[in-house]
Amino acid sequence: MPKAIIIGAGIAGIASAIRMAVKGYEVEVFESNSYPGGKLAEINLHGFRFDAGPSLFTMPQYVDELFALAKKNPSDYFQYDKLGEICRYFYEDGLNLTAWTDINKFADEIEQKTNSSAEEIKKFLNKSETIYSVTHKVFLERTLHKLNSYLHWDTVKSVFRFGQIDAFRTQSKANEAFFNDERIVQLFNRYATYNGSNPYQAPATLNVIPHFEYHFGAFLPKKGMYSITTSLVKLAEDLGVKFQFNTKVEEIVFKADGRGIKVEGVRNNGQIHKANFVISNLDIWFTYKNLLKDFKAPKKLLSQQRSSSALIFYWGMKNEYPELGLHNILFAENYKAEFDSIWKEQTICSDPTIYINITSKHIKADAPKGCENWFVMINVPANNGQNWDEFIIKAKENIIQKLNRILKKNIADDIVCEQILDPRSIEIKTGSYQGSLYGNSSNNQFAAFLRHPNFSSKIENLYFCGGSVHPGGGIPLALLSAKIIDDNLKLTKS
Ligand code: FAD
Repeated sequence: MPKAIIIGAGIAGIASAIRMAVKGYEVEVFESNSYPGGKLAEINLHGFRFDAGPSLFTMPQYVDELFALAKKNPSDYFQYDKLGEICRYFYEDGLNLTAWTDINKFADEIEQKTNSSAEEIKKFLNKSETIYSVTHKVFLERTLHKLNSYLHWDTVKSVFRFGQIDAFRTQSKANEAFFNDERIVQLFNRYATYNGSNPYQAPATLNVIPHFEYHFGAFLPKKGMYSITTSLVKLAEDLGVKFQFNTKVEEIVFKADGRGIKVEGVRNNGQIHKANFVISNLDIWFTYKNLLKDFKAPKKLLSQQRSSSALIFYWGMKNEYPELGLHNILFAENYKAEFDSIWKEQTICSDPTIYINITSKHIKADAPKGCENWFVMINVPANNGQNWDEFIIKAKENIIQKLNRILKKNIADDIVCEQILDPRSIEIKTGSYQGSLYGNSSNNQFAAFLRHPNFSSKIENLYFCGGSVHPGGGIPLALLSAKIIDDNLKLTKS
């Protein structure tokens, strides 16, 4: 039986392991941490449980597909609910909006409370759907790095509709032209942060993202986001996949002969583990820097601007806040200044947009009775050696002041325990270069073409999956990277 080694048990590594096991290969996953999931992990603190990274679950069909491929019943492993309410938005001028899953209800809410009309919202979401229909088969579900992708009929059709994807103006410019009320521009500009980008630079094509939430829906796994990881690990193990934790791969071993260069396996602790093919799930930057040291790296692809990172406070709160929901955004007053701080000044502004995720609103076991588990996140630049200790002290003060101002409470009195994650610790814990959350940023219209392919064109039988390679970051796209490898796997005999 041919053998596959996967380096890294991030979500795409686990999905790749499942796909290879379904194909009938012997599969072994080497993971440097003592636990699976990479960014999709959890934190337990004094009776509170937190999802450490992702909190918004969209496109669950890509997870379900893995159970279907393995001919298993998804609900035996993993269950989730569709949310009626996507997010609560709070503005400094006192405006509060709820983004309902029901588009009519959401559009009515906006018409009643702002200067934008229900019609604007509906038209915008239709446009979002159009961008999805033109782009998803070409940019998300196939490799961009093989000729046959371009000869495919779906690609030809998309080329004729290319003008509809709005690639030649920024997301913010498009939204300013679309909405009458600047607070609604801000609400939809926020979607650029879903892949760590800047709405004042990224192409308006990113307006595809609301389509995922408003048409397909926003979801929450019944046992929290980390159960995506644990249930897929269970599925993989049921299919015979072996996980080796606390096992850091030090090198991808390959052999050159007259016919080319072929992967041979990986090296850990001085020992070579042979495989017919290797899939690397770790950040492509570190794959080249640490595991392929003797190999010429594709400089242009690796020097692209990284996505933003995050500063997260995990707070156990000894009170309940009925005005907050599962997902909450408290907007910066000056959004442009916030993005200038992140992208131009590489710092954190004094009034950042704050995201609060509280899973205990739905999953009671995540916090003691009468308490809440707050995941409080702000977007920050990727790590370029800034003085993070100083930044964290200042940011915490500013966050608490803003929360007190908007919620009209003294929230600091309710914090009973705290853990902090910053770009440095994100890099250490997940192997993400500069602590960026989503690999490269999408701050230019060619970004989709400047992500590394899912295979090596120089080393046969070496593949790459995860948020730092094509088609990009976020759980759905990371899962699609595993699917693209599955669709393109061409094993050259060793
Ligand atoms: P990663 O999670 O990057 O894991 C890579 C794995 O490789 C790690 O386990 C690491 O330990 C391992 N590894 C590294 N080096 C080695 C080595 N040498 N040997 C062996 N193993 C190694 N996405 C969403 O869809 N929704 C969200 O709401 C969302 N919010 C986010 C919030 C935060 C704070 C973060 C950090 C991310 C968020 N994301 C979100 C992005 C999402 O988490 C990632 O895109 C996705 O989880 C990346 O998965 P991956 O497969 O690339 O692997």
